[in-house]
Formats: sequence, C-alpha cells, structure tokens
Amino acid sequence: MTNAHNVINETTNFYAKSTAKTKAVTCAKNDSETAGKFGLLIDYEFCTGCETCVVACKKEHDFPVGKWGIRVLEDGPWQKIDGEEGGRGFNWNKIPVPTDLCDLCGKRTARGKIPSCVHHCQAFAIKYGTIKELAKIMVEKPKQVLWFPRVT
Ligand code: SF4
Ligand code: SF4
Repeated sequence: MTNAHNVINETTNFYAKSTAKTKAVTCAKNDSETAGKFGLLIDYEFCTGCETCVVACKKEHDFPVGKWGIRVLEDGPWQKIDGEEGGRGFNWNKIPVPTDLCDLCGKRTARGKIPSCVHHCQAFAIKYGTIKELAKIMVEKPKQVLWFPRVT
C-alpha cells in the first residue's frame, strides 16, 4: 500500500538524480558585501525530515546545547480529503527553517565550499546560490521556499 513515506522516498530518489547538478548553484565568496545577495532554496516537498542538515550545521558552527542554525518543522500528517488513501491524500510537510544564527556558512563559502547543510543533505533538498539564480529555479516547481539572512 502506498503511504506518505513511500511517496516521499520515491520522489526524493527521483528528484535527487535530477537535481544533483544544481545542488551547488554557485559557490562564491560570501563577504559582507555579497552576503545579502545569497540564500538558500529549500525544497520541502522532498525533505525527508532526516535532520542531517540540523546536525551538520550544529557541528560546523560548534553551537552549544539549545542553539541551532536550522530546524526542521513538521506540519501533519492530517488528511486533506476524507476517504482518500495514500500519501497524496495527506498534508505532511517537513519544513527546514534556518534560524537567526544562520550565516550561510560564511567561513566555508569564503573557502569555496558550499554550506554544510547543502553538502550533507542526501535528498538534495537545499541549494545555495544567489537570490537571482535560486529564484529562477524556484519557479520550476512548487513547494519550495527561498530564504536569505538579515544583513546587520
Ligand atoms: S533538508 Fe535534507 S538533510 Fe535536512 S531534514 Fe530535509 S532531507 Fe534531511
Ligand atoms: S547555511 Fe550553514 S549556517 Fe545556514 S543553516 Fe546551513 S549549515 Fe547552518
């Protein structure tokens, strides 16, 4: 029987192959001049909720207990249409949300690396790039969110 997890896993495998090339849209120096122009594109349709990004971010920054750079929120499961079986009948979203501590892995990107959460996400659900580049990708499929940090 098809269930929500099967649908997520199947679509994740499919999407992972098709998006491997776009995981790192760009990897440029993220200094104070350009920080506001870069962001993350988060595909919460294919996020499995594994929280690898959460752990990778925490380890990268050595955040203390109780502090995080990204969290995975959950909405669901609840049935959208009464009587309908299967994953698509349910609302069940795992939604990664960067916190105020996210600095887009400035130290990593300054060395030419992609952010730690992007690097470790096995579902290729997070992309890093300029807002302009990410916005172009965003219009290609639904259930994605574009995020960038407040520049202080
Ligand atoms: S964004 Fe990727 S690493 Fe983070 S919870 Fe979702 S699937 Fe896991
Ligand atoms: S970009 Fe870096 S700081 Fe921001 S959530 Fe990802 S790992 Fe954490």
